[in-house]
Amino acid sequence: MSARQRRLVVVSNRVGDPRKAAAGGLAVALGDALSGTEGLWFGWSGQIAEASGELKQRQLGRLQIATIDLDQADHDGYYLGHSNQALWPSFHSRLDLASFETGFVTAYERVNRLFARKLAPLLRPDDLIWVHDYHLIPLAEELRRIGCKQRIGFFLHIPLPAPALLTAIPGHEQLVRSLFAYDLVGLQSRSDAEHFALYARSELQAEALDDDRFASFGREVQVRSFPIGIDVEAFRNLLPQRESQETMLMLRQQYAKRRLLVGVDRLDYSKGLPQRFRAFRELLANYPENRMSATLIQVASPTRESVHAYEDIRHELEHLAGEINGTYGELDWMPIRYMHRTFSRRRLPGLYRMARVALVTPLRDGMNLVAKEYVAVQDEADPGVLVLSRFAGAAEQMREALLVNPYDVPATAQAIQRALHMPLGERRERHAALLASITRESASQWRQNFLDALAAAPASTQRRREPADDPLSASA
Ligand code: ADP
Repeated sequence: MSARQRRLVVVSNRVGDPRKAAAGGLAVALGDALSGTEGLWFGWSGQIAEASGELKQRQLGRLQIATIDLDQADHDGYYLGHSNQALWPSFHSRLDLASFETGFVTAYERVNRLFARKLAPLLRPDDLIWVHDYHLIPLAEELRRIGCKQRIGFFLHIPLPAPALLTAIPGHEQLVRSLFAYDLVGLQSRSDAEHFALYARSELQAEALDDDRFASFGREVQVRSFPIGIDVEAFRNLLPQRESQETMLMLRQQYAKRRLLVGVDRLDYSKGLPQRFRAFRELLANYPENRMSATLIQVASPTRESVHAYEDIRHELEHLAGEINGTYGELDWMPIRYMHRTFSRRRLPGLYRMARVALVTPLRDGMNLVAKEYVAVQDEADPGVLVLSRFAGAAEQMREALLVNPYDVPATAQAIQRALHMPLGERRERHAALLASITRESASQWRQNFLDALAAAPASTQRRREPADDPLSASA
């Protein structure tokens, strides 16, 4: 049976409303995947309740939405704790910021077990199940334990670190082992897939059945990269609309004599914002012709504010912006416009379009969709330049950007200088190649490739050679 004929069940920590355009990258991509076909979207309701687990269901056209609440302890341990204070920092190579607490791990496992128990009764035998992201790595293992034999795929939206880092995570063996309960594991980049292959070989003594198939624990799993993209057409269509047009007009009036640079991120320590500000400061120091001209508009949306590390990065950034503006600012020019807020999605294309340069310089990023959004809405006749971190997954596809090492502040400043003064011919050439690549590797292509590969995966019940002592196979 093809992917098209089966019911798709998507499981993610948060469940969005597919009718709302503002729901954000992942939610929009999943909403599109589910709209038009019969589907089920399952996840946390976003609500904290007295007790975990009450199932709420509603119907949106042909899409069934099922959510469960979490109690405070589950939410704090599973979501704020293990997901966002252990897995997020360590998968982004920030072991120094990671907190590994036994209480976090038990809450993480407990909530994954709860998800499995609540989801299983809603499943049909031919469903294709697609689990998303680091919050839910053990979900397939829990589903198998209670007898689910459907095809289950997993997509990791964040980077998979190299073995040297992965092995530093307490409990890494169990975490990676639980990936073998899936039929297909999708990663953002080829280097993530290489990290898995290296880990499988060195830590699990897994047998490589093929370039992308691995056998261990009596199980087989396919692990491949599926780079996520954006819906180029839909994003471009926002440009002629009122909000983007107003934004462009305002920016044209306010910054008529300036050259704009833009950064749009969640205020996350993985995004390299302090390094970006320092590179901008170095630009002003080393290339004084940019003073009174280059203006960086940085929008950083609040995120995970109850986690300590996020408070620190916010203070560091405010301090740096104040210092740079204090040093270089003039009565009629401020080098940095820093806004700690979420910018309306409908205005974003206007902001991107008016910026001569986009700074997308994360220290580590699974993919980075801002890079693709910026390229999507440039004027093909007079496009801006993308300065992109080589440590973003997007750098594998977007080779024609100016690739930088964000830790190397002087070299990044040099790249920004080059971007600001790049001749039109070179800008057009680079942009045309980037646009072709993001159009080819779109959001719908990503979904289709993943679901086709999942539907084509050998049926799990036919191929498993399960040793009796394998807990994964206890009742599967
Ligand atoms: P991440 O998933 O780590 O936040 P991505 O770059 O892959 O990073 O995706 C971020 C998405 O959220 C993009 O669609 C981007 O437009 C949007 N976004 C990020 N920061 C902001 C902001 N400050 N205001 C509005 N939208 C934002």
